Amino acid sequence: MNHVEILGVPFIHSTRNEFIDILHRRIKQQNKTFVVTANPEIVMMANENKVFMEYLQTADFITPDGIGIVKAAGWLNKPLPERVPGFDTMKDLLSLANENQYRVYFLGAKQEVLEQCIHNVSNDFPKMEIAGYHNGFFDLDNPQIAEEIRELKPDLIFVALGAPRQEQWIYQNIAKFDKGIFMGVGGSFDGIAGVVPRAPEIWQKLNIEWLYRLIQQPTRWKRMLAIPRFVFKVLLQKTNKR
Ligand code: UDP
Repeated sequence: MNHVEILGVPFIHSTRNEFIDILHRRIKQQNKTFVVTANPEIVMMANENKVFMEYLQTADFITPDGIGIVKAAGWLNKPLPERVPGFDTMKDLLSLANENQYRVYFLGAKQEVLEQCIHNVSNDFPKMEIAGYHNGFFDLDNPQIAEEIRELKPDLIFVALGAPRQEQWIYQNIAKFDKGIFMGVGGSFDGIAGVVPRAPEIWQKLNIEWLYRLIQQPTRWKRMLAIPRFVFKVLLQKTNKR
């Protein structure tokens, strides 16, 4: 598979649909898979935190989550076909799980958010099997939760602990499992539960979903300071390559 490297992070070169097809094949083959969806904040985090970069390097696939990554690829003359956002990928995987009665485990978010999320997904995807769920507030070094999940033999494990915790948990535990697609999904359970509304389609089409999120959750602005630093570093990479 083709990759586009941005500041040391290798992104898959595929469309959303192609990526879902790849994952579907891997579910059927019971091929253990670690998926990271990365936006500019994640790329900067990896550049500033060696241990986090090591977690990312063990992922099977890193997808461009956010217009910033797609733009950066273009600046570096290594264009990526489109965004492959975590939230959409999760929704597509839930549909697949529904069609094929796959077993799904949900790990993360606050207890009440998680319960609302489970309620909503069981309404929307009634044929999917919910293997189990656990909230995201536990000690990462406690091996018991992974042990319990392993015994449930889920096909898909969505981990919504936020970065870098979710990638750390997957990195630390994936070796114990026999199968499963493991994917860090950030605040997606909050999105499904309706706690944080997703941007209306027009905002998404205009590629300003990030602005909508900033307005909804103004506390995010500090994290968003990573974006200008990201742009600067990518442009520097471009100049150095000339
Ligand atoms: N979260 C969690 N455990 C923690 C910290 C956060 O389960 O120790 C959950 C939080 O409730 C939310 C999700 O992780 O559902 C994503 O959090 P955040 O918005 O900070 O991450 P991002 O969307 O930026 O990855």
